[in-house]
Amino acid sequence: MTMFPMTAPAMTPSAPIKLGLDFDNTIVCYDAAIALLAEELFDLPPEVPRTKLGLRDHLRGAGREPEWTAFQGELYGPGMRHAQPFEGAIETMLQLVAAGHELVIVSHRSRRPYAGEPHDLHAAARGWVAERLQSTGLFAADNGSVNFLETRQEKVARIAELGCQAFLDDLPEVLGDSGFPASAAGILFDPSSGSTAQEGQRRISAWPELGELLATLP
Ligand SMILES: [Mg+2]
Repeated sequence: MTMFPMTAPAMTPSAPIKLGLDFDNTIVCYDAAIALLAEELFDLPPEVPRTKLGLRDHLRGAGREPEWTAFQGELYGPGMRHAQPFEGAIETMLQLVAAGHELVIVSHRSRRPYAGEPHDLHAAARGWVAERLQSTGLFAADNGSVNFLETRQEKVARIAELGCQAFLDDLPEVLGDSGFPASAAGILFDPSSGSTAQEGQRRISAWPELGELLATLP
């Protein structure tokens, strides 16, 4: 009797597509930056969790909401020096590029903070892209592959204009925006698996899952 080895179902390699990527909290993980920056800027009691919600609740509870607002301007400005790419993000992006996919960043964030020092938050983001991503060869051609807009409306319009065939974002409201192109497959990046996005929403909880998901797209 001939035994056939058990094999995984054949994976159809996906045809090269234009893949759009959100930036904040999709490529960039702020967990370490929040903890480090909070230590630099505040004298926190030990019991305060060094997390976004921990810090926010602590400052709000102490009537220090303006300091929380200013903190975010520091975080998305000079505090980006502490921010790290999500685990597997760079490796996955390099693999996707090697497989022929075209990657573009389309992000929205305000140009200036709502409070505190008037940092240029777009310049800070571009600096991080140069230092952490373009240094690896990603987005290096700088041919319009890095897009920072000010509003969600401008962002989804740019996703449509660029002809993205798939888009990865941590915010369900971006993928569900009325201006989000029907021709793009929305993929939710949900690292905490805590999103309330509707059932049936395509999602990944970690970057290394992305290639496999793209292979399932029609
Ligand atoms: Mg985001």
